[in-house]
Amino acid sequence: MNTYGQRDLAFERGEGPYLFATDGRRYLDFASGIAVTALGHSHPHLVAALTEQAGKLWHCSNLFRIPAGERLAERLVENSFADKAFFCNSGLEAFEAAAKLTRKYFSHIGQPGRWRILALQGSFHGRSLSAIAASGNPKYLEGFGPVNPGFAQAAFGNLNELRAAITDDLAAIIVEPVQGEGGIRTAQLDFLRAVREVCDEFGLLLIFDEIQCGMGRTGKLYAHEWAGIAPDIMMLAKGLGGGFPIGAVLATDKVAAAFTPGVHGTTFGGNPLAMACGNAVLDVILEEGFLPDVDRIARLLWEELQALAARHPSVLAEARGAGLMLGLRCHAPNGELMKLLRDNGLLTVTAAENVVRLLPPLIIGEAQVAEAIDILDRSCAGLAQAAE
Ligand SMILES: *Cc1c(COP(=O)(O)O)cnc(C)c1O
Repeated sequence: MNTYGQRDLAFERGEGPYLFATDGRRYLDFASGIAVTALGHSHPHLVAALTEQAGKLWHCSNLFRIPAGERLAERLVENSFADKAFFCNSGLEAFEAAAKLTRKYFSHIGQPGRWRILALQGSFHGRSLSAIAASGNPKYLEGFGPVNPGFAQAAFGNLNELRAAITDDLAAIIVEPVQGEGGIRTAQLDFLRAVREVCDEFGLLLIFDEIQCGMGRTGKLYAHEWAGIAPDIMMLAKGLGGGFPIGAVLATDKVAAAFTPGVHGTTFGGNPLAMACGNAVLDVILEEGFLPDVDRIARLLWEELQALAARHPSVLAEARGAGLMLGLRCHAPNGELMKLLRDNGLLTVTAAENVVRLLPPLIIGEAQVAEAIDILDRSCAGLAQAAE
């Protein structure tokens, strides 16, 4: 179906931070399949893990124990606030599981009247009827009938509005510490801490959607770690499988206790093939020195982008973001810059607020930063000239 419109570029293979198109052209991939191929393409450790598992066992269902999944859950728990994990296949399914867990938790503790979830404007949590209701974005809701009533919205970063939106039926607040689709909008760390305090004050659960900003993208394993606080529930997907579809919901024991046998499930989620990939991704990201390297290269790219924006004030309004989740807000339509960058060999993704997103794989080095800045410079100069 025509859900993605006209596309005219296809790739044959990938190697680290590069993609090779069917016409032989090489592209520097700062799209990463929308923050999915966190370790670049064809990472030898991931290829080995996937092919080894492919020769042994693909799928057997959650009717049976899946040792690799138990191992991945233990490792995610060991390195986070959480005590338990649930595996599924996508970000959307992680959202759905987090929303269901929230409602079930309040029912479980004898407060079934609390079922609404407050989301923030500009957020993106997926494309199901529930997830589009959560984000409240008219662009995604249009034509899909009555809006699922389980959600409400408050402005991103506005504590007064957030407090004013608290109703008796409210169960949880859901926040992306860095909004991706919403235009690379970084929540102030003080705002995140204040949301945690509001949740504690009103007995609400705090859900962090780290589907895009998690798994090392900001230079820490999870973006919320920068604020020194923890949620009650966290959603993961995108980078967790390095390109293999995985979603996960992590929660504290207190909350996870509401999910008893039979209340939620999935056929494919957490199958041996997916779990082999998830463990392989963690092997690399948790290696000593890996995240500090991400942080170091991210700071270099940040400085370069600030300088770039200053060199091209007629094209770029600002450079913003956190870690390797970066955005260039444009004056001209963002699609124009994205297309020119692509023609010049750099792949990026557009986002709301007229932003071009830069989501390089976490394995880039100085050479890729220099290459990207060179292409950005030439493309911005090209756009400026075309506008004259
Ligand atoms: C991509 C994304 C989702 C949805 O994930 P899918 O795998 O596309 O369903 C949800 N939340 C955030 C923050 C995302 O970036």
